[in-house]
Amino acid sequence: MPDAPVLLIVDDDPRARGVVESELRKRYGADYEVICAGSADDPLRLLARLRDGRRRVSIVLAGQSMAQLTGTELLAQVREFHSTAKRLLLSDGGYGPPPEPILQALTLDHIDAYARRPATVPDEAFHLTVTGLLEEWARSNLPRPEVMRVVGDEWSARSHEIRDLLSRNLVPFGFYPADARPGKALLEEAGAAAARLPVVIMFDGRVLENPSNSQLAEAIGMRTSPGAGLYDVAVIGAGPAGLAAAVYGASEGLSTVVLEPEAIGGQAGTSSHIRNYLGFPTGVSGEDLALRAYTQAWNFGADYVYGSPATGLRAEGSERVVTVADGDKVRSRAVVIATGVSYRRLGIPSLDALTGAGVFYGAATSEAKAMKDREVFVVGGANSAGQAAVHLARYAAKVTMVVRGQSLADSMSEYLVKEITSTPNIAVRFNAVVTGGAGTGCLESLTLLDQASGVTETVPAAAVFVLIGAEPRTQWLPDEIRRDRWGFVVTGTDLMAGGHPPDGWPLQRPPMLLESSLPGVFAVGDVRCGSVKRVASAVGEGSVAIRLIHDYLRGD
Ligand SMILES: Cc1cc2nc3c(=O)[nH]c(=O)nc-3n(C[C@H](O)[C@H](O)[C@H](O)COP(=O)(O)OP(=O)(O)OC[C@H]3O[C@@H](n4cnc5c(N)ncnc54)[C@H](O)[C@@H]3O)c2cc1C
Repeated sequence: MPDAPVLLIVDDDPRARGVVESELRKRYGADYEVICAGSADDPLRLLARLRDGRRRVSIVLAGQSMAQLTGTELLAQVREFHSTAKRLLLSDGGYGPPPEPILQALTLDHIDAYARRPATVPDEAFHLTVTGLLEEWARSNLPRPEVMRVVGDEWSARSHEIRDLLSRNLVPFGFYPADARPGKALLEEAGAAAARLPVVIMFDGRVLENPSNSQLAEAIGMRTSPGAGLYDVAVIGAGPAGLAAAVYGASEGLSTVVLEPEAIGGQAGTSSHIRNYLGFPTGVSGEDLALRAYTQAWNFGADYVYGSPATGLRAEGSERVVTVADGDKVRSRAVVIATGVSYRRLGIPSLDALTGAGVFYGAATSEAKAMKDREVFVVGGANSAGQAAVHLARYAAKVTMVVRGQSLADSMSEYLVKEITSTPNIAVRFNAVVTGGAGTGCLESLTLLDQASGVTETVPAAAVFVLIGAEPRTQWLPDEIRRDRWGFVVTGTDLMAGGHPPDGWPLQRPPMLLESSLPGVFAVGDVRCGSVKRVASAVGEGSVAIRLIHDYLRGD
């Protein structure tokens, strides 16, 4: 029987520490060991001792005002000892906005949450924060019965895809490298020693040889084929925009089906910490947000069909027919395209592992303030990268742009080039690419290659903002659905030219807001031309589309 996981409290104020300790012992004492210390007790050494004793630390709760080191300073170092521990800053009270060090710690992912110390006994608001963190920690740290065992080559792309898919869909599984003894034994036992890898062995003994996404989904009881009847709305893609359309469609009495080939949550589901979505003051993990939205739509009666992407869409009279990769067809009266974009990634595993912890994809707006006095990097040479650099330069000590080309003029507006060259704390490295990066818990350094000289250099970096473009997932759409030159779906008034609807538009009325050039087919979220590329705006558009679909179905 392993030792109970630890809840560690570090606080210099003995009275406050006593209250937190007694609250934690009362609630969690049966399953967790509560350990207390002050800053004079050398909490870093204590963390090292717990690590060396192979103890699992679930949460470190630290008071901010301490004599030896502040709570944020301590919590910033916790992951060096316990890589999965949650870090909760106990604030000293006050109802105003959190002070600068806390804001900075949140943005840099040095803390997971902050809470006021218990004000009453019991303090349910305090416990809600603690329980939420424990739930997240337990999801990947406490043993769960494995629904699937995946045996494969550790570094094969498909093994990685399957692991990613199962973890994003919250399916408990174990991965066993095929060349190690446990993996070999599992294959022998299952009679699959000669099978094509990766092999998935189900809890009930079923064996899946190199399964497709659909086969995996089917194996765990998810629906992989749409119903034969006519739906009111087919939502293509289960990112925030599609999930919002599903919640509003199903809750407003429309029979709604959602098609998703990969994982619920889309890009947002890959974000470890979404901080700017309304209603989650210390942020929410993308996984958590996706799970909540999925359940919400499900509870209203939305159908989900997993495993295969939509591959085609056509109008058959008043029906819209979506074809799916496995040959199925979804018939509906209206369609919501919510297939999002894929942000171009650097494709460097050590940096991908630090996404959200110093490595940021997309705009830098929300993180900029926390970069105060730090040295940061922006990768990319287009307008989005230029704007991010200028914005960051207001806060950061130094911003270095890493640009693959030899000049900014080819890819960036002139006004931005001028602004960049006249901003003293922005430097531009031309002919440069990022080839690596490292950090324990958060980004600490980047490796840059100068393509002209061939020289590689490792430089300290507090953050890197990657803005190397995003590709809309619209290649599957027919020509009738107009797209801009980058492939984003054009909607509403953007389709009008000189007051006229686009060629081939069959109706008297012009296209509605969010409606594409094919009547009854709407586009929402990141896939739409001119969209804002945020979770909240995607959710907003998904819900608005349903309102418009009511009008469309009524023939307004
Ligand atoms: C790492 C990261 C962190 C981010 N952090 C934040 C943040 O903190 N705050 C914020 O506001 N925004 C953030 N964003 C941006 C935000 O996640 C997106 O704006 C948002 O997810 C867009 O939602 P969407 O539903 O339009 O598209 P997506 O999230 O891209 O979802 C599209 C879905 O469609 C599916 N799909 C694609 N093609 C098909 C097909 N042919 N058939 C069926 N389904 C298909 C995909 O599998 C996917 O699930 C972040 C993005 C990333 C990548």
